[in-house]
Amino acid sequence: MTAITAIEEAGTLNSRLAGLDLAGRLSLVAGLGGRVVFTTSLGIEDQVISAEIGDHRLPIEVATLQTGRLFPETLALIEETESQYDIRIVRYEPEQGDIDAYAAKYGLNGFYESVEARHACCGVRKLKPLARALSGATIWITGLRRGQSANRADTPFAEYDPERSLIKVNPLADWDIDTIRAYVANNGVPVNPLHQRGYPSIGCEPCTRAIKPGESERAGRWWWENDEKRECGLHVHEETAVAAQ
Ligand code: SF4
Repeated sequence: MTAITAIEEAGTLNSRLAGLDLAGRLSLVAGLGGRVVFTTSLGIEDQVISAEIGDHRLPIEVATLQTGRLFPETLALIEETESQYDIRIVRYEPEQGDIDAYAAKYGLNGFYESVEARHACCGVRKLKPLARALSGATIWITGLRRGQSANRADTPFAEYDPERSLIKVNPLADWDIDTIRAYVANNGVPVNPLHQRGYPSIGCEPCTRAIKPGESERAGRWWWENDEKRECGLHVHEETAVAAQ
């Protein structure tokens, strides 16, 4: 598939997904063929998608990035989710050699010292494992929502990811947090107990704090960096990225 064809396919898919409910969106992409991978952080949005995949027995691989720095509550939720929905969540972990090299250069918690050091840690613990998780995938499903942050306000339903040569699908792009919470409550979906303690967005333990009233949903992520564009690099729209709006 050429890049132009992929961009056109993403644009067509974006339009088709817009008119469907969540189950319809996931069923549509699951039926496109190829390797379809959903990466979950076990956040509340991702739990909705895991529930749909499990309930409808959709042929979608479920993967998570086990960075080695996750909250104990998150680790427990991985197992609880697998059990409740009879699905397998494949853990992709960083290479020990990469962790050792990072610690030697920056220190184990060197990510507090500079943006460069933080990006390097995310590169080792998230980006490289993500590359393995998505190797050979044709579709990458995420739980991104437009309401999560200003940086995600224009999230499309489908877009071509030229760096990974696949189509990225965001089936919850137009869901707001109240709709997510209602779905979870009405369907008995297990969620991270940290959400009740002021953590709407949950990542690695040393890099996530509870938010204050009025702050954006992702304000507790890398809170020491005074930058509205804070991201771990998994979902950054590069200048070359092509969004199918
Ligand atoms: S979120 Fe923090 S601990 Fe996790 S990979 Fe990024 S810098 Fe490292």
